[in-house]
Amino acid sequence: MAHNEAVDVVLVGAGIMSATLAVLLKELDPAIKLEVVELMDSGAAESSNPWNNAGTGHAGLCELNYTPQAADGTVDIKKAVHINTQFEVSKQFWSYLTKKGTFGSCKSFISPVPHLSFVQGDNGVSFLKSRFDVLHKHHAFADMEYTEDKAKMAEWMPLMMPGRAPDEVLAATRVMNGTDVNFGALTNQLLKHLTSAPDAQVKYCKRVTGLKRNGSGWTVSIKDVNSGSTREVDAKFVFLGAGGAALPLLQASGIEESKGFGGFPISGQWLRCDNPEVVKQHQAKVYSQAAVGSPPMSVPHLDTRVVDGKKSLLFGPYAGFTTKFLKHGSFMDLPLSVRAGNIGPMLAVAKNNMDLTKYLVSEVMQSMEQRLDSLRRFYPEAKAEDWRLEVAGQRVQIIKKDPKKGGILQFGTELVSAKDGSLAALLGASPGASVTVSIMLELIEKCFPAKAKGEWAGKLAEIFPAREKVLETDAALYRKINTQNNIALELVEESSETPSYA
Ligand SMILES: Cc1cc2nc3c(=O)[nH]c(=O)nc-3n(C[C@H](O)[C@H](O)[C@H](O)COP(=O)(O)OP(=O)(O)OC[C@H]3O[C@@H](n4cnc5c(N)ncnc54)[C@H](O)[C@@H]3O)c2cc1C
Repeated sequence: MAHNEAVDVVLVGAGIMSATLAVLLKELDPAIKLEVVELMDSGAAESSNPWNNAGTGHAGLCELNYTPQAADGTVDIKKAVHINTQFEVSKQFWSYLTKKGTFGSCKSFISPVPHLSFVQGDNGVSFLKSRFDVLHKHHAFADMEYTEDKAKMAEWMPLMMPGRAPDEVLAATRVMNGTDVNFGALTNQLLKHLTSAPDAQVKYCKRVTGLKRNGSGWTVSIKDVNSGSTREVDAKFVFLGAGGAALPLLQASGIEESKGFGGFPISGQWLRCDNPEVVKQHQAKVYSQAAVGSPPMSVPHLDTRVVDGKKSLLFGPYAGFTTKFLKHGSFMDLPLSVRAGNIGPMLAVAKNNMDLTKYLVSEVMQSMEQRLDSLRRFYPEAKAEDWRLEVAGQRVQIIKKDPKKGGILQFGTELVSAKDGSLAALLGASPGASVTVSIMLELIEKCFPAKAKGEWAGKLAEIFPAREKVLETDAALYRKINTQNNIALELVEESSETPSYA
């Protein structure tokens, strides 16, 4: 077995998370030596692939599950505000890179697409109205519009209105400056930019098979998936950005902080339409409410997608159950992740989430006709021949210990890091790629605290003139940063500040 030279950082997986962290680290320390290790033959082959996720630039503009309603009717907007400002932090990084001139065009990965919320029935309308009343008073949502007027809805979503009963009770909100993001194109652009710098490599068709402590760092075992040859790389810091497969690697590290975590994989499917006659009638991402008992990531939405300059429509997702942690993974992934330390929380989650299990079984058992019926709630005149079923990416939800319930299922993301800051893993899925930059900044602050406050502080302030907290409260600064980002990313025309649709 050959022993490779040492590097400063090994990043496992070439998805949006590793690509973002690698480029950020290289900006902060151009002399840093790093290697990205990817088991597939290209970047963004799993969840970050544009057809494996919905490409929504999550900014809390349309996702109704980010604004839960309490029993007394009040709507809590904290999560929507936080995700909105996190997305603005992502946009600051992409703007910074785009302005450098060597990164390539932002048009390849981000497009302006209005974000709409759409509800049916009296309860839905009352919720949307309450949500709008609170949300549009916050500076990040000041441009939100609300309507119960069907003529206006026909302007906003022309595909979705014909074929409805005249007495159907409906309401909608719209924010014009939402986005569609091709996270696959962005990932590959980041990786290309990364490898144009010295001492930064991306190695494809290589699987990380093990991790061993090595003084204050780690020895990473890597297997070539074609030849079967193996090598070892010594690294001072390891990032497990392996998507759904981060959990088994975290377990292999044996760090104390990994104990008690388990994973619950949920697969997904979409209906996709490429018929230009249909596609041209819908220029929006329209999100509605999830069915009772369904997990939050199952909120149905009808999306304009812009991938490689072409527009399509995507509807879904339809959830499903599998034991694989990656779309290209193994059915043994889930059973092999069971440990003495996580079997308790996993069993507790299985016992306490029967509604979710029933929901997933019903989703898996659906016929194409039943799937089309769900689509027709949005688009009553949908024709079967325009739509085909496609498999989406895998999401591995986090199972963790809970003192009261034994174990809980968590639908967000969680950064797990070793106490000494030598290793970090990203578990979970949602809201995911849109908030990658905030998550990676959190990682840098946790694992490189002295550098973040010391030698990297100036560069961090240059790239990120305003972080999440201040954007949440300072309306004037928010407007300034938002306008600067939208201009730099060509989402608005410099003179008009109105979205420039492709
Ligand atoms: C159905 C669905 C819809 C979504 N919609 C949205 C959305 O609209 N907006 C949004 O912001 N986010 C969305 N997300 C979430 C988003 O896609 C993910 O959060 C994001 O892509 C995760 O990126 P990642 O880099 O962590 O993982 P991935 O992109 O999955 O990359 C992990 C990489 O690690 C590699 N790997 C795994 N194991 C190893 C190993 N042992 N050795 C080497 N390489 C390894 C894999 O091959 C893969 O390339 C969605 C996700 C899904 C599944």
